[in-house]
Amino acid sequence: MKGVEKAPTSRDNGSEVTAIQQQNCETPKEPQSQKEEFPPAPSDHQSILVSLSSRSVWKGTVCERSHLFRIKYYGSFNKSLGLFLRDHLFDQGYRCRSCEMPSEAHVHCYTHRQGSLTISVKKLQDYLLPGEKEGKIWMWHRCLRCPRPDSFPPATLRVVMSDAAWGLSFGKFLELSFSNHAAASRVACCGHSLHRDCLRFYGYFLLAKLLKRV
Ligand SMILES: [Zn+2]
Ligand SMILES: [Zn+2]
Repeated sequence: MKGVEKAPTSRDNGSEVTAIQQQNCETPKEPQSQKEEFPPAPSDHQSILVSLSSRSVWKGTVCERSHLFRIKYYGSFNKSLGLFLRDHLFDQGYRCRSCEMPSEAHVHCYTHRQGSLTISVKKLQDYLLPGEKEGKIWMWHRCLRCPRPDSFPPATLRVVMSDAAWGLSFGKFLELSFSNHAAASRVACCGHSLHRDCLRFYGYFLLAKLLKRV
């Protein structure tokens, strides 16, 4: 089938799923007192209020202290998920202003009242994904609640990001990720919740791993 790739082989598992435990948003360097309080209405269906912090895994430093900001779903400030991934997370020329390291050195944490979403970026090490020149982004997930036949969470097939997924507002994507409403939660092919139970991956020449915690 066109646009469908075999899931990563077990050889890749290590680099994909290691250090899940360390992907925690909490950073020892940030005292609890610095946690921001969310106003009573963090989402108004037009925008979402989140707190973002970033740290460098390579240097062990906090690159961006947690700060609140609002992401709009519509209008000129809106950015699509595809553009967020390609131009922001997967920007080859990116150098962090704080640690001077490239994108793949970083873990970003979006925090919301209903949990946190950790996005870690790393280099694809053992394989290349086709269509890199055309800017294709692949996506797949691993369910953390399904049985693990080879001790790794089972991976789904890789599929190229659809136009609909690409065009989805990044703010809306965050809202869906944080939503606990059954209507909003996407069901993975195994029947578990895509947002709550799965590690989500987006691959280009870099790999972004998304993990939600409640
Ligand atoms: Zn940095
Ligand atoms: Zn499952």
